[in-house]
Amino acid sequence: MAADSAIQAIRRADPSGTIGMVSKEDHSPYERPPLSRSLWSGGNIDDIWRNTGNLGVNLHLNRAATSLFPDKKVLYDHEGQIYSYEKVLIATGSTPRKIENSIDDIIYYRGLDDYFTLKALVEKQEHFCVVGGGFLGTELAAALAARDKDVTMVFPEKGPLASILPMTVSKELLSVMVSRGIKVAAEELVTSADKIGREVVVKTNRDTLLAFDGVVAATGTIPETTIASTGDLKLSGDGGIAVDDHLRASMPGVYAAGDVASFPSKLLGSVLRYDHADSANAMGAAAGENMAGGDVAFDHLPEYSSRIFGTEYHAVGDVSARYNYVIDWKEEQSVCNVYYLVNGRVRGILFWNHPGDVVAARALISENKAHNVHTLKGQLP
Ligand SMILES: Cc1cc2nc3c(=O)[nH]c(=O)nc-3n(C[C@H](O)[C@H](O)[C@H](O)COP(=O)(O)OP(=O)(O)OC[C@H]3O[C@@H](n4cnc5c(N)ncnc54)[C@H](O)[C@@H]3O)c2cc1C
Repeated sequence: MAADSAIQAIRRADPSGTIGMVSKEDHSPYERPPLSRSLWSGGNIDDIWRNTGNLGVNLHLNRAATSLFPDKKVLYDHEGQIYSYEKVLIATGSTPRKIENSIDDIIYYRGLDDYFTLKALVEKQEHFCVVGGGFLGTELAAALAARDKDVTMVFPEKGPLASILPMTVSKELLSVMVSRGIKVAAEELVTSADKIGREVVVKTNRDTLLAFDGVVAATGTIPETTIASTGDLKLSGDGGIAVDDHLRASMPGVYAAGDVASFPSKLLGSVLRYDHADSANAMGAAAGENMAGGDVAFDHLPEYSSRIFGTEYHAVGDVSARYNYVIDWKEEQSVCNVYYLVNGRVRGILFWNHPGDVVAARALISENKAHNVHTLKGQLP
């Protein structure tokens, strides 16, 4: 997604320059959010394409970039083809965290081909396991349950979305999911997976054995930095490619954007790596503009949102249940704002069960003022 946003920005600034895109996938760029949402509820696959090919771009699909030589300004792909460049953007995204001792039949859900694989299985089978209780795991479990599939979620945290939600809020989501027939095995870590007959059997750290027709893993991701390592690019402490506020990596002519890049957030006073669509699009656009000769300092405070059955949430900035938080319940039951604080400053805000005001949330975080439970109650609608 970041690659397409960069290409769009380059084309806006430079209608005729040569642009090439090398992608491991056999598809031209597309929106990823529909893969766990609208495509399961009647959405049309024709609507996911980003139409990058219409911008006069040489699309080199089904080709994995394997090594980068920033000093020579060349890139190699897995078949040894060489691409020379003036400026290169690394937008390789992130790669699924694998379950140890597992078999190939597990679907690590990331791209369009995974959607096709899962869809084919869903058309024939009934019993599914979703491993992982985060953003993607909750969406996929809801999508499968809405198709009347028998769904079991297995994850090591105490509740769904527990890495970002306070436990009281996570429990609300849990009861929504359970009321829709989803079985939840919380505080259980999948330690291995095996194929026995036509079933996939997962084993947990409690020695529980569970058998399914299909297992989908949404076990988190790590930045896909293989190509960066070949080019001697500096990595940040969180594993992403370190970039400056112009999205420049540590070698001349190399930029990085999206899930793979860790950027300095001036607003938050720290390095941030975000793996969501809004930041990928905004970073890609800023990187593209700079690659085409612009001078854009990137300081966007990213957001993301999700809907699980009727329950929605919108997160702005850096939200994590590890931080101190203040919950501001609203009059309506089950509606609240959660403010996440580090050293008394708001780093992130989550609107639970209402759209909230993202612009006001960004403004409040940007003020960087000291806050506490009293000043935050009633701060935002
Ligand atoms: C199923 C799903 C649903 C999501 N839903 C949401 C949502 O609702 N809201 C939200 O905010 N975020 C969502 N996200 C996250 C969001 O899609 C990502 O943050 C975003 O796609 C990141 O963009 P990117 O360009 O950095 O990486 P990607 O979009 O992942 O693109 C990276 C591309 O690089 C390719 N690549 C990797 N290595 C190489 C190589 N060596 N050579 C060539 N090509 C390579 C990959 O195959 C891929 O095509 C979702 C993610 C998934 C997987």
